[in-house]
Amino acid sequence: MTATTYHLTSYGCQMNKLDSELVESKLQQRGYRPAADEAAAQVVLINTCSVRQHAEDRVWSKLGKLRLRKKEEPGLVVGVLGCMAQEHRRYLLSRMPHVDLVVGPSAFGDIDATVAAAIARNQELVSSREPARTKHQVVGASMLAVDQGVSGDTIFRDVRVRPHRSQAFVSVMRGCNMPCSYCIVPTTRGDEVSRPVASIVEECQRLCDDGVTEITLLGQTVNAYGRDLTGQNASLAVLLRALHEIPALRRLAFITSHPNFLSPDLVAAIAELPKVARYLHLPAQSGSNAVLKAMRRGYTVERYLARLEQLRERAPDVELHSDFIVGYPGETVADFQATVDLVRRVGFAQSYVFQYSPRPGTAAAELPDDVPRAEKERRNQELLAVQGELTLAKNQALVGQVVEVLVEGDSKVDGRYSGRTAHHRLVHFPTQDRELIGTYVPVRVTAALAHSCLGELLGHDAHQEGRLDRAEVHT
Ligand code: SF4
Repeated sequence: MTATTYHLTSYGCQMNKLDSELVESKLQQRGYRPAADEAAAQVVLINTCSVRQHAEDRVWSKLGKLRLRKKEEPGLVVGVLGCMAQEHRRYLLSRMPHVDLVVGPSAFGDIDATVAAAIARNQELVSSREPARTKHQVVGASMLAVDQGVSGDTIFRDVRVRPHRSQAFVSVMRGCNMPCSYCIVPTTRGDEVSRPVASIVEECQRLCDDGVTEITLLGQTVNAYGRDLTGQNASLAVLLRALHEIPALRRLAFITSHPNFLSPDLVAAIAELPKVARYLHLPAQSGSNAVLKAMRRGYTVERYLARLEQLRERAPDVELHSDFIVGYPGETVADFQATVDLVRRVGFAQSYVFQYSPRPGTAAAELPDDVPRAEKERRNQELLAVQGELTLAKNQALVGQVVEVLVEGDSKVDGRYSGRTAHHRLVHFPTQDRELIGTYVPVRVTAALAHSCLGELLGHDAHQEGRLDRAEVHT
């Protein structure tokens, strides 16, 4: 008998991508196999994101196409997973009869059984020729039963199922307890639930035993990790120190941090542990105190800068990354200018800039969305241009230096491979040697591009044998 095939499309953040990996791992453990493409799949799953309207629009459009396909293939199983499943569950169940599965992020631990039940149900109903409406109601009801709490320590990962042999993401917590006015995550992902330190260390050890050398810890507010584990001496700093002991691990990163939880302990861990990546993603969101207050971010610009100062004193080599929202309700030209000033003052290495869009169910959605679309676009472009100058200058400063690159694979620049430094800088260099993928190589930077660098591969052997002067290598 041939194996059931599935296709999974993932939208949104890195957390979603990791969830998709975990879902695939469960499906493959049950004997299902990835289809060559979506058109060939018997089970089509979409792991969704609710953070921005654009991401939701793509899912609604995809579901429209799947409705047509299902008319031709009534046995096809269609599943909506993740944040939209949580947020729009009622609508999906009541208005989209071609959707068989609606699975929120907390129910992924049972995804293989849920998919199996939907396949069996569809086969039964197709052979008995019952109408699609009945099909939907029956499977939808069983979904509601499984979409109940799964503890933060649920480990259902097969460490062998991952896209990169040497790199892995590890979820250390779920949910978020912060009150940011514009964000739907606390609604879709629920309260913070941290996994115990020992459980995370064990998963990371198994990954490293299977060839991983770079791990990125994930959490919506990753540096708030452990505050729900009362009396267990669990914090991100404690976790970093424990993971640092794994001999095969060479790089350890974590995303995304909240400015309020950049504690002295965490700063000390970043400064003292050489395996910890030399960049910190610390979203500021705005450079205006009035906007930060309206966003309910819980800090002022002055406090944000003071935290950075503490970090820079202890770990001056750490580069800073940020996120910004432009066009938040009530954001004036002066507020926006304060954001531009903050970006220049801090000198971020990289920033993601988003135009505000109201998310139904959030506090900000009750406010008038009063910055015109064209003005949001103008602010977006201006901020990107300022950040672009800063990024280019940082890349130019690397020209002539030797950097250590973890080779990730084919580059988008022809005939080259690419990889990242410990500062998360993308470097492209010419080689045809596939054996280098997953290894750490020294590359001399020869040119700076807007978002990356070009370089040339140096004596790989010298580096492997430790003959290259450490001081020469800018990690
Ligand atoms: S910290 Fe704020 S923006 Fe980040 S996930 Fe939590 S509520 Fe959303």
